Amino acid sequence: MKLSIHGCRGSTATSSRSTQKYGGNTSCFEVSVDNHQIIFDAGSGFQNVELSKTRVSFLLLSHFHHDHVQGLAFNPQLFDPKNEIIISSALCEIEIVKKTIQKYFSSPYFPIDIVSSLSNIKFLPFNAVQKKLEANLSLSSIPLNHPGGSTGYKLKQKNTSFVYLCDNEFEEHQRKTLTTFAKNADLLIWDGMFTEKELADKKGWGHSSIEQAIDFNIETKCKKILITHHAPHRSDKELDQIADGLPELFALSNDGLEMEV
Ligand SMILES: [Zn+2]
Ligand SMILES: [Zn+2]
Repeated sequence: MKLSIHGCRGSTATSSRSTQKYGGNTSCFEVSVDNHQIIFDAGSGFQNVELSKTRVSFLLLSHFHHDHVQGLAFNPQLFDPKNEIIISSALCEIEIVKKTIQKYFSSPYFPIDIVSSLSNIKFLPFNAVQKKLEANLSLSSIPLNHPGGSTGYKLKQKNTSFVYLCDNEFEEHQRKTLTTFAKNADLLIWDGMFTEKELADKKGWGHSSIEQAIDFNIETKCKKILITHHAPHRSDKELDQIADGLPELFALSNDGLEMEV
C-alpha cells in the first residue's frame, strides 16, 4: 500500500506563509493498493488527488463536516466522465450520504448540482464496497466519538494494515474497542488536533490530543503513528516544536507526504 497525504489541516483550510510546510488543506488521505485508489475524506486536499482512469476510485467519508467534504467538487478531473468515483460511508445509509452530498454541492451552496449532473459519481452502500474489495483487501469500520458522529476505517491487505481514526474525541470507554480495532496496525492516523493542555478547555469539540495518541499506543502497538487534523492556527514553527518532542514511531502528517505502508 502506498499512502499519499493531500490534506491534514483540521476544521478549516488555512493559507499563510507560516503554514506552508505542513500545509493548509483539510483532510484527504489517499491509499493506492493493487487496482484500487481508496481516498479517505474529501477535504480541500481532494482537489490535488490524481483520479485514476485505469483503477476504481473509492471515496470513503468519515462524516460530513465541511473540512471532510468541501474539496469534492474542486478536483477538475471529477468533471471527466471517464473518472468513475464510488462514494461511500459507514456513518449512515447510502441514501443519506447521497442526499447530504447533493445538498452540499447544489443551490444555494454551490452553482451546479454535481450529483445529478455527473454520472461518473456513484454511491454504493458500505457493505457493497466491502464486498467489491473483498478478494484481496479487507475493509472495516468503527464508530467514533464526535458531534454528529464520525467513522474510523481499517484497510488490510494480507498482514499490512492502515487505520484511519479521524475525527474522534478519545474517551476511556472507547479504549477497549479502539485498541482491538487498531492493534498492531502498520500505520495509524490519529486526530491530534489539541495538546493535552488545550484539550482541557475543548471538551465536547470532538477531537483528541497528541498525548492521548502516545498513551493509546502503549497497548495498541501500532508500528507508525501520524498525528493529523492540525489546528488551523498552528504554525509550522509550533508544529516543528511538537514534532521534536514526539517519541519514536510518531510523526506529524504533512501535505504531500508519501510513504509505503
Ligand atoms: Zn474535521
Ligand atoms: Zn468533524
